[in-house]
Amino acid sequence: MIIAIDGPAGSGKSSTAKQVAKRLGIIHLDTGAMYRAVTLFCLRKGIDFRDETGMAKAVSEIQISFTGSPPDTRTWLNGEDVSDAIRSDEVTKNVSDYCAVGVVREALVDQQRAIAKTGNLVCEGRDMTTVVFPSAEIKIFMTASVEERAKRRKLDFEKLGVSKTVEELAAEIAERDRKDSSRSNSPLRQTDDATLLDTTGMTLEEQIEAIVQMGKPLLDK
Ligand code: C5P
Repeated sequence: MIIAIDGPAGSGKSSTAKQVAKRLGIIHLDTGAMYRAVTLFCLRKGIDFRDETGMAKAVSEIQISFTGSPPDTRTWLNGEDVSDAIRSDEVTKNVSDYCAVGVVREALVDQQRAIAKTGNLVCEGRDMTTVVFPSAEIKIFMTASVEERAKRRKLDFEKLGVSKTVEELAAEIAERDRKDSSRSNSPLRQTDDATLLDTTGMTLEEQIEAIVQMGKPLLDK
């Protein structure tokens, strides 16, 4: 069984999916973490996202893996735990450019489909319901107002010791939304068969429960 969740930055996908995975005892696949790991690798090596040869070489050198069980999954890049490094401001600002590169998407989509063959899973990203798992049993488009999402991101950044205003974050989120929704390669969009979950004003517990209730009856399918 696959629960596929798409939605814009800060809509609550990751926090919700982690707990859904824990409660249903299934795999959690955070595909944003994979695109962030590629971005981190390229920024460290000084590879520009427009450099086709450099990007193809980078993709061939990158190994991404996950360890642990939700909600404490760790992300590894070539043997290094990059779980915190991939959340940095620099990676966040650049990821929308690196993730739109064709060779990057091809490689990561292949890996995501391979992971799905290993068991029931809840995955989240921007193209789960549209491109990677269009026939997932449960398809959800999760969203929230830009202001609400900016407030949530402010709390995330505070945990990392970064202080930003809600206005600043709202502008950054709106820009990332624009890039993610307007790119030609796998843009973020809601499909007709996806359930819309607007989390503005919902508690995390309500978001988790809504999806757990959808997933429970399908667990053995
Ligand atoms: O979900 P998160 O905000 O960590 O994702 C980081 C970025 O990775 C997104 O802004 C988007 O540009 C990209 N992404 C993507 N496709 C996915 C998951 C994430 O393009 N399936």
